[in-house]
Amino acid sequence: MSTNPSAHPAPKFSALVTGASRGIGRGIAIELAKAGGRVAINYAGNAEAATEALELVRAAGGDGFIVQGDVAVAADRERLVAETVARFGRIDLLVNNAGVAPKVRADLLDAGEESFDRLFAINLKGPFFLSQLVAKQMIAQAPDAEGFRGRIVNVTSISVYTASINRGDYCMVKAGLAMMTKLFADRLANDGINVYEIRPGVIATDMTGGVKEKYDKLILQDERGITPIRRWGKPEDIGRAVRAIAEDRFPFSTGACFDVDGGFHLQRL
Ligand code: NAP
Repeated sequence: MSTNPSAHPAPKFSALVTGASRGIGRGIAIELAKAGGRVAINYAGNAEAATEALELVRAAGGDGFIVQGDVAVAADRERLVAETVARFGRIDLLVNNAGVAPKVRADLLDAGEESFDRLFAINLKGPFFLSQLVAKQMIAQAPDAEGFRGRIVNVTSISVYTASINRGDYCMVKAGLAMMTKLFADRLANDGINVYEIRPGVIATDMTGGVKEKYDKLILQDERGITPIRRWGKPEDIGRAVRAIAEDRFPFSTGACFDVDGGFHLQRL
């Protein structure tokens, strides 16, 4: 039997990652590519960043395509799923990563409805209805070599349990996303679909660019630092956790939460 060493190896899994053009989502896409996956790289408006992310995915040994779509919009969510299935034939992994912070940090007593509605739509409503669509697709597809029809990962935040009174809307919707993980985990276990929450700490991305000095001080300069592991998190840190899920390292865990936060969640005296 002849072998062609230049041939691209068969992809090990097919993933849809929302908000994969920049930051954490891009880091996830690259790690999935290193594991031999192919990735649908979703973005909202920054096509240039998405194109760059696809180049990095290819350079890392994977493949994929870019797909614009606002997760807050129903027709866009349907198109995201339809295009991914048209390209890949199936979706083994959905990563609900796309998310936004409030445009303005406002005190709890002054926070406005517009910001609340925006965060609710992008950070919670979008992931909920996208998971619904993708779960139906996964249920309809044959199990993979490990017996799974799919996996879903929700990217939440330490804001699930940390009160920040100048961005209460963000904290509340992330807490909702944590509960959503438990709900889907329970509903989908019998369908061969495991669901996980990944809870990042402070990660160096565009989202935290505006508060860099504040966190430099809290992490690096204060005597003890807010995290036992005294560095900023990197998108790659989150990517490696998602990769472990994609590679099926946690087959007997569902509804589980992984704190990828440098130990921020520890209560210390
Ligand atoms: P980021 O650097 O601001 O990147 C956001 C990504 O989401 C971009 O790819 C953006 O696409 C996409 N996006 C924004 N709105 C969207 C929408 N409506 N539909 C589809 N895609 C959309 O943010 P990040 O820091 O990587 O954050 C990623 C996730 O991690 C978020 O859910 C965030 O809440 C969470 N998180 C972040 C941190 C942190 O410290 N950075 C900590 C905990 C949790 P475009 O490029 O097209 O704009």
